[in-house]
Amino acid sequence: MSDTVHLKQLIDRLEGSRDLSDAEFTELLLCEDSEVTDYLAEKARGVREKIYGKEVYLRGLIEFTNYCKNNCKYCGIRCGNKNAERYRLSKEEILSCCDIGYELGFRTFVLQGGEDPYFNDDRMVDIVSAMRKNHPDCAITLSIGEREKESYQKLFDAGANRYLLRHETADKAHYEYLHPKEMSYDHRMQCLRDLKEIGYQVGCGMMVGSPGQKTEHYIKDLRFMQEFKPEMVGIGPFIPHHDTEYAGEKAGTVEMTLKLLSIIRLILPEVLLPATTALGTIDPTGREKGILAGANVVMPNLSPGNVREKYLLYDNKICTGDEAAECIRCMAQRVSKVGYTVVQSRGDHIKYR
Ligand code: SAH
Repeated sequence: MSDTVHLKQLIDRLEGSRDLSDAEFTELLLCEDSEVTDYLAEKARGVREKIYGKEVYLRGLIEFTNYCKNNCKYCGIRCGNKNAERYRLSKEEILSCCDIGYELGFRTFVLQGGEDPYFNDDRMVDIVSAMRKNHPDCAITLSIGEREKESYQKLFDAGANRYLLRHETADKAHYEYLHPKEMSYDHRMQCLRDLKEIGYQVGCGMMVGSPGQKTEHYIKDLRFMQEFKPEMVGIGPFIPHHDTEYAGEKAGTVEMTLKLLSIIRLILPEVLLPATTALGTIDPTGREKGILAGANVVMPNLSPGNVREKYLLYDNKICTGDEAAECIRCMAQRVSKVGYTVVQSRGDHIKYR
């Protein structure tokens, strides 16, 4: 049997909800034959269309603080980066982003930031409650890092629905390689379990091509996802930031990111899967390619124009100069060009409707 036929059979098995061995996942992840990767993307699209049709969900991303107490080695807003110009949005500024976003058709707002101690439980509860009151028909997603379970519970009770906390890598040694010793793999994983128990729609995920990452790590990530069953998965290429110790490292590739998006779609058919800004940064049509590989979410930037360049996790980030209205128009066009439609909907996971 030829390699191509064999690899297509592996893809058929994944599509049929059957598992692959580690050796088989490795073959698929290392395969660069475009006949096979096209087939993989086609199967992933088929699965996503059976569940979510041609709809692409929008999330309005509000980057509300770039203060961070952590020092993740890959990240441009790590506390050790003395060159980062720090900012925080006020409650009023955040609420005004939501109002602008609502007018533009967003029905999910994502509050993302560094781990900023200023935004303690009282302040976050106040902000989330106000968002919930002003826009009762919208979903509120938080992406503010590791907190204790009581804190997650308070934010949920205040009206937050979803939480994004990438696990970053499901290999403990690799996690420790990417993070300073104060940070704990076990705590991050505990946070994900806490969030799920509380009732959030939970998103995990990792960077693709991060320093030290090997094929075996991707397999661990996939196995972790199979077991954890997140409602959302965020993946994007690692991109070096000039003020980090990884400044000279290579970025992750479009090809590997697309293969992983498709495999994730096949192992978690119902997952909400964004075509990320990082993917659009390493390739001008990266997000379109992501949608064609099985992604069904896009996250245009809703942050105020004057702070966008300051929320720099990695170099050359796109859309830092555009207004929210331009971003959404551009996104809608990009999506429709590849045959899909952005919709004005909360876009919940199918099990939460
Ligand atoms: N403080 C929050 C939000 C982190 S920023 C938290 O801890 O969850 C969101 C994601 O950006 C991170 O989880 C990480 O996977 C990604 N990221 C950070 N630095 C990056 C880089 N240099 N290249 C690509 N992605 C990066």
